[in-house]
Amino acid sequence: MTNALAAALRDEIQRNGPMTLARYMEQALAHPTFGYYRTRDPLGAAGDFTTAPEISQMFGEMIGAWLAVVWQQWGGPAPIRLVELGPGRGTLMSDALRATRGVAGFHRSLELHLVETSEPLRRAQAAAMAKSGVTATWHDTFDSIPDGPLLLVANEFFDALPIHQLERTNQGWRERLVTIDDTDGDRFRHVLSQEPAAYDPPAALRDAPLGSVWETAPAAQAMVHALAERIATHGGGGLIVDYGYGQQGCGESLQALRNHQRHDPLADPGTADITAHVDFAALAQSATAAGAAVYGPLDQGSFLTSLGLAARAERLRASALAQQRPDQAAAVATAYKRLIAPTEMGSLFKALAILGGSQPAPPGFAAAP
Ligand code: SAH
Repeated sequence: MTNALAAALRDEIQRNGPMTLARYMEQALAHPTFGYYRTRDPLGAAGDFTTAPEISQMFGEMIGAWLAVVWQQWGGPAPIRLVELGPGRGTLMSDALRATRGVAGFHRSLELHLVETSEPLRRAQAAAMAKSGVTATWHDTFDSIPDGPLLLVANEFFDALPIHQLERTNQGWRERLVTIDDTDGDRFRHVLSQEPAAYDPPAALRDAPLGSVWETAPAAQAMVHALAERIATHGGGGLIVDYGYGQQGCGESLQALRNHQRHDPLADPGTADITAHVDFAALAQSATAAGAAVYGPLDQGSFLTSLGLAARAERLRASALAQQRPDQAAAVATAYKRLIAPTEMGSLFKALAILGGSQPAPPGFAAAP
């Protein structure tokens, strides 16, 4: 056996019995020594996956404008805690800060807090923030961010939080656990719990056909509850962008990616990115229960379009052509399409806004249903 994390998980299962999928996922991604995010920078062509801010500077620029307008809608409080959850390489934040340099008083009012557990990515973020000239403070969790008005953004963060899977059996809903696969030491397999599940599917799904799988992410819901409570109490707004579904339903979405290829999530833990679709309806419910106002989810294509992505793309394209860079102009057009086309990221990815109190609709959501 070569995989040290697999060995640790095997030991744990031998001691305590099968573990929840959430425990497995959490360890595979965040084990202090061998977790996927602890050991590498997973982004980009040489990594395992790419994200909207890595595809184009336009994404972070649009988000920056969103944050600045929400700040203005609140009357421009100072100081304001600008928080990013899981900032990756710091690309989104760099682009957002550059795009908002001209917003009167905004940068002077900002106190930047980055929530990141990965050391390699913290280093990348520090380098990016040094270039931006903005001082940041890092946190392991959201809870240690000081109280006060908050502006928050999270892109492709919630899909990495651990999920539980429940399966409908003829004895009712049972949690799918993870156990050792005796045929291969670095591989695991599912086994159904003998006990009734600790989580209940929403009423509309309770009588789903036998064999249906329902996923739930209590850690993601608790986190949204905490940040929405903060926003409802102290003011500000939050924007969550991720891939996922807007309506609750049954279906398995757990997936692993390694070198941009599908990988078995239960094989070689710690060597592949593991994610699941974000259940936006559940997150919206948590935010509402915490006393915040919720807008969306709105698909990423519509959201970016109503923020003016087309005009920004056109300006970047024209300026590339003016500099005799047809290659760059073509890259802008390709990136634009990737971000908004329904066949690419435009519909699978969604944006959810969380605001405190009775504010006007945030930018991009005015036309939301
Ligand atoms: N937002 C970036 C990166 C997305 S990848 C982008 O769009 O490019 C997910 C990010 O969340 C990484 O920075 C990862 O290290 C971080 N992350 C994942 N799980 C985390 C957790 N439980 N706590 C804090 N950060 C986490």
